[in-house]
Amino acid sequence: METGSNSTMKNKAGTLYLVATPIGNLEDITLRALRILSEVDMIAAEDTRQTVKLLNHFEIKKTLISYYEHNKVEKGNYLIKELLEGKNIALVSDAGTPGISDPGEDLVKLAIRNNIEVTMAPGPVAAVTGLVLSGLPAGRFVFEGFLPMNKRARKERIQALLRETRTIVMYEAPHKLIHTLRELYELSGERNIVLARELTKKFEQVVRCRLSDAIVMYEADKPRGEFVVMLEGINEEAVEDEVRKKWHDMSLGDHVGMYIKQGMQKKEAMKKVAEDRGISKREVYNALI
Ligand code: SAM
Repeated sequence: METGSNSTMKNKAGTLYLVATPIGNLEDITLRALRILSEVDMIAAEDTRQTVKLLNHFEIKKTLISYYEHNKVEKGNYLIKELLEGKNIALVSDAGTPGISDPGEDLVKLAIRNNIEVTMAPGPVAAVTGLVLSGLPAGRFVFEGFLPMNKRARKERIQALLRETRTIVMYEAPHKLIHTLRELYELSGERNIVLARELTKKFEQVVRCRLSDAIVMYEADKPRGEFVVMLEGINEEAVEDEVRKKWHDMSLGDHVGMYIKQGMQKKEAMKKVAEDRGISKREVYNALI
């Protein structure tokens, strides 16, 4: 089987192929994905019912092994054993790219630990599709996947994102969307937000609005379907202004003194002050002599 640039690796073990599948529109399957799916010895699938539909559509008959969150340890070990015995295995997720917010990540780690060759047939990712359609800055972004379920961990995660200047991309289930939007609004205040729903499907919709507008809209009309949420990062200049204001009333000497009182050596304190104020260490040094 041809494996692109990795084909030079001589290994008796088989190869693990991560195969991206459509996130809603079957036309988004790639020719390479179809070839790999029809050539491998077996396919590990997060949701075998979904994968059967895909394979039937493209008339591919293959042994399917269920591999999902709750059997990933046992099935992961089984798949590695098969790979070590020379089987070529494709891994597909429910939809999109395996390894992004699904247990594919664990199988990749396990395969790497066992020196098994891993390669990929890339394709759709809901996060990237939503980000690019959002119109928000896409040059620098941070992908958060699903926020943690635990209340405290969620709050901590959102708080850690409050000063994020990059566009924040998240996944959310429709029944939790309003709750998440309210939490984001309470903690971060008003922001631009983009809700990309049912991407690549018949009822694809991209809503670009303010956080408070999104809450009002979805309170009136219950969210349905799959969503990627993009939250605008904070303005970098605003952060710099905030930093400047924060240290404005303190002299450089007092600022350095504050860290020395906290137990830092003078050199370390000067370095920290330079970082806090976004200035060079030399500027701090020159001001103090
Ligand atoms: N591995 C997938 C990928 O590459 O995007 C993501 C899997 S994650 C378990 C499923 C989440 O992806 C959904 O809850 C939703 O937030 C997002 N998603 C998947 N398909 C989508 C679509 N067609 N439109 C919008 N969001 C989608």
